[in-house]
Amino acid sequence: MTVPPGPRKIFVAALATETNTFSPIVVDRRAFEESLYAPPGQHPATPTLCTAPIPVGRRVCAEKGWELIEGTAAWADPAGLVARGAFETLRDEILGQLQAALPVDAVVLGLHGAMVAQGYLDPEGDFLERVRGIVGPDVLLAAELDPHSHLTARRVAAADVFVVFKEFPHTDFVDRAEDLWRIVVDTLEGRVRPVMSVFDCRMIDVFPTSREPMRGFVDRMMALEMSDPKVLSLSAIHGFMAGDVPEMGAKMIAVTDGDAAYGAALAERLGMELFANRGKHLMPQLDEKAAVAQAMAAKAHPVVIADMWDNPGGGTAGDATVVLKELLAQGAQGVAIGTIWDPMAVQLCFVAGEGAEMPLRFGAKSAPFTGEPMDALVRVVRLNAEAEMRFGESVVPFGRAARIAVLDDQGQETGIEVILNTVRAQSYDPSLFTALGIDPLAQKILVIKSTNHFYAAFQPIAADILYCSAGRPYPNDPTTTPYRHVRADIWPRMADPFGKDS
Ligand SMILES: [Zn+2]
Repeated sequence: MTVPPGPRKIFVAALATETNTFSPIVVDRRAFEESLYAPPGQHPATPTLCTAPIPVGRRVCAEKGWELIEGTAAWADPAGLVARGAFETLRDEILGQLQAALPVDAVVLGLHGAMVAQGYLDPEGDFLERVRGIVGPDVLLAAELDPHSHLTARRVAAADVFVVFKEFPHTDFVDRAEDLWRIVVDTLEGRVRPVMSVFDCRMIDVFPTSREPMRGFVDRMMALEMSDPKVLSLSAIHGFMAGDVPEMGAKMIAVTDGDAAYGAALAERLGMELFANRGKHLMPQLDEKAAVAQAMAAKAHPVVIADMWDNPGGGTAGDATVVLKELLAQGAQGVAIGTIWDPMAVQLCFVAGEGAEMPLRFGAKSAPFTGEPMDALVRVVRLNAEAEMRFGESVVPFGRAARIAVLDDQGQETGIEVILNTVRAQSYDPSLFTALGIDPLAQKILVIKSTNHFYAAFQPIAADILYCSAGRPYPNDPTTTPYRHVRADIWPRMADPFGKDS
């Protein structure tokens, strides 16, 4: 790359969601607007998970005296397929902004990487190819990705650099945006020439970094980045097993300074390390009976029960009632559940008002294997028309929310309270409880819906954390999930895809 002197002009935008292709909840444009839709220049100063390249880019470009042209930033909370029209209009909106900004020296994007749209198995591949078509072969194209994404060959061919969050929980989305921008700056100032090498681990797994073996793996990746001058960035794509697309699965990315063969060897070495630990990454899980019994027997509180597969962050509705029913069956008290998604029930609570007692049907209305809807006498304790919680440096809205106390048939408190909400969001942070006036530290049991993102914020207040697999709201067993597109020659769909018989 030739390096002319002087200030640079960089285009930045974001288009992101995570698609559970088995979820019944279609994502339309309004879903983006409810979560995050920021026209050029209107992105808040606070970074969000997939839009951190924008606020970080503002700071970097201000320091360098470079021009940053902002395009639209759009993020929809994970759900089912993105409506074709929503994807195409957002994509074309950003492409039009890029076209108008030409010429630029680089394009920096915040993507998630696990979007699937009606008619598009690889929307980000389509988007990146079109960006490449507009800017031509010589302009740097860099993007930040979530590890729960699909690294297609098409995307790798179109882009120069991907940097992926290393941590799960994703506590490092700002740090990785800074890594991405550092590579962009070093490239535009002629100090490095990034090339990407990819290794396909041919496995489907879940890789929490809050425990071994992934904790040590991430630490080794970061140490290598520091110690090896040829290495600009290392990333593990975890894959997203609820996305039924042909190239789903774990991949390793090595971005090196101009040495693709070195990067390929390193990516293979690290990728085979992940493969060697297949099946050992995920935390031990309890069923709902064991989780509730163990939580009730605990001497120290609060105990967090993570209803880990009914995770709106993985595209489910987040309305399963399996754990709630078990808590009632075992007579648990001092329980707060945050949250159960049920817009209709919330509407009824808002009409009734705080203090009202009423019969209410709530939860488990959206999908099979999530329990039965709950029919109970309830008291509306607290309403919040614009509830939100923290997630690291960002703020996550969860809509109109109603805190209800579940009563028994005689109208007596059962000791179980539930937060119902209208905007699906996973349970990131204890502030979701305080938003409805519940002191999380005063509870014996906190039930939350999140696979592992909750860990960073709940671990410091939890006496114990129980990972609970209740019902089957999410396709969490690749050996039985009815995939139509995912390849069959990938672990655990086959025993050893690198073996001689493969
Ligand atoms: Zn993720």
